[in-house]
Amino acid sequence: MTFNPSLTARLRIGFLVLFALLMVVSLLGVGRLFQIRVNYENDITRYFQLELETEHLRSAFILEQAAARPATAHQKPSQAELNQAAASFSDAARRARDLTDDDTALNAKLGRLIASQASWRKAVAEPLIQERVPPPGVEQRLTSAVTNSGEALAVETRGSRDAARDHARTDTRNTTILVAAGLAGALLAALILFSGLINSMRAPLGRLVEGARRLAGGDLRTRVEVGGPTEIAALGRAFNEMANSLERDARERDRVEQMKNDFVLTVSHELRTPVTVVKGFAEMLTAQREGLNPRQFEAAEVIAESAGQLQKMINDLLDLARSDAGKLRIEPEPTPVRPLAQSIGRQMRPHFDGKDQSFSVSVEKDLPEVDADPGRVTQVLANLLTNANKYAPEGAKVQLAASQVGEEIEFAVSDDGPGLDEEQLEHVFERFWRADSTETQSVGGTGLGLAIAKSLVELHGGAISANSVPGQGATFRFVLPISKDGRPTPTAPAARTKAGAAG
Ligand code: ADP
Repeated sequence: MTFNPSLTARLRIGFLVLFALLMVVSLLGVGRLFQIRVNYENDITRYFQLELETEHLRSAFILEQAAARPATAHQKPSQAELNQAAASFSDAARRARDLTDDDTALNAKLGRLIASQASWRKAVAEPLIQERVPPPGVEQRLTSAVTNSGEALAVETRGSRDAARDHARTDTRNTTILVAAGLAGALLAALILFSGLINSMRAPLGRLVEGARRLAGGDLRTRVEVGGPTEIAALGRAFNEMANSLERDARERDRVEQMKNDFVLTVSHELRTPVTVVKGFAEMLTAQREGLNPRQFEAAEVIAESAGQLQKMINDLLDLARSDAGKLRIEPEPTPVRPLAQSIGRQMRPHFDGKDQSFSVSVEKDLPEVDADPGRVTQVLANLLTNANKYAPEGAKVQLAASQVGEEIEFAVSDDGPGLDEEQLEHVFERFWRADSTETQSVGGTGLGLAIAKSLVELHGGAISANSVPGQGATFRFVLPISKDGRPTPTAPAARTKAGAAG
């Protein structure tokens, strides 16, 4: 089993370690500083007391000297005073000994003072008490030995006190530096810890981001390698489950779509023959008008017209289903534009005349041939012109224009009818979409014509678009490639240039 703590556990461990490190460093530092302070205060007090005792020793010796001074007319040396002064010297010496403790230098100085005092007593004080004058020079030598030893002890004590202060200062500085270094070290450790934590998350998060991008881009087979802290690993697993379910759904959708296409394809195909038969017979009946009474003739006409609409709808559905199944075929060939435009113009003219609409066809001079299936281009143009005829009101103007734009031929069908607003333009090429205005709804239609036009144009390698100013009309344009092996039209670009210059 591998140890893989959760993100929260990792953060907790991180903070705990950091807290413990900071705590230990701070406690050690503060403890040490406190100890230095206490030691310093103790030392200073001890050295002051020692200085005091040194002064006691000196004054006791002065008293001893006074007690053992040579006899004069007024005063004699006093054994009792000497003893008292000696006792106070011994007391001060004992207390000083307690204070010098384990300091060898001070001990040695104190020892010398005590020894020189003892020698002085023996060789100077005691003979003087017994009124014997010590040999010349001895008194002076031994007295100054005691005085010098006292002075040496005082100097040594002051020196030790200064040394204690310097020592405390150095200790404080070193400890402060150590604590600062410890804190910096703890912070560095925390930084390393947290950057390790972030690094452990970065790679799996990066994989997730990359996976999400690929999934959003449509690659439903995208899966991510699960890893990192528990939460991110869980996120990775959830991501993979989501991708699985999306892929499953997409497969199911494709299957249903396929079934729907197959169904539409089969039904349309099966309906085509009977509808053609019905239409044929109805047309046959209308052609034999004499044999029918007016009601029968009218009925035959309605049947023929409805069968015609049904046939168109079935053909449209069949085209779309074939386009979805990738089975819609075109047979492009070099096709001259003018005859094509004139032919569809002729077919559509009666419809425009029927609505009192003015209809014009304008084809640029010397256009090269297009690489297109003439039947299919006629179908596209018929859809666009039928729409212009249907949706523009009576008396409107409709135009079909063809011109060269770069390496393509552009066909444009424009009218000055109701047009479409921006939102409607976004949907206009969607299948089964129809504007929900009363003008549109009052006219029959299926919402398939423009979707088929788009499929057919794109199958030719072209593109279709719509522009409109609501209330002022609409223009539908599509472009088709110029035929490469078609009839060359060397005059075309020159003619365009001239025309442009002249205009
Ligand atoms: P149909 O004409 O059968 O409804 P289409 O796909 O040809 O289907 O057109 C879709 C919709 O686009 C129409 O229902 C209509 O609302 C709108 N439309 C198409 N051509 C025009 C036009 N020339 N003027 C205004 N609206 C149009």
